[in-house]
Amino acid sequence: MSFLLPCPHCGPRDVNEYQCAGEVTTRPEASPSQRELASYVYFRQNVAGIQREWWFHRLGCEAWFQAERDTRTNEVLSVELVDPARRDAAPGPEAPALPDTPAA
Ligand SMILES: [Zn+2]
Repeated sequence: MSFLLPCPHCGPRDVNEYQCAGEVTTRPEASPSQRELASYVYFRQNVAGIQREWWFHRLGCEAWFQAERDTRTNEVLSVELVDPARRDAAPGPEAPALPDTPAA
């Protein structure tokens, strides 16, 4: 399946240029309980409808951004560069390693 996803820097591009890093989650506080940590790492909403997701433009400008996408139709409603100071600004644990990051 293919659709166009607009990068905030580059404009509409084929979705195959991107890496999806999953839905936006909120990191737990500094000392999370085991339950909070397990929930953050393993559980997702997986909605059938509008979902806010992290995307990485891997074959373009290499920007991280968030998009609101309808998971039923792949219609992209909005894209946004995110202020890194926000608590939910870091991609979740399923984010791909950056090209200059050695694989674990
Ligand atoms: Zn781009």
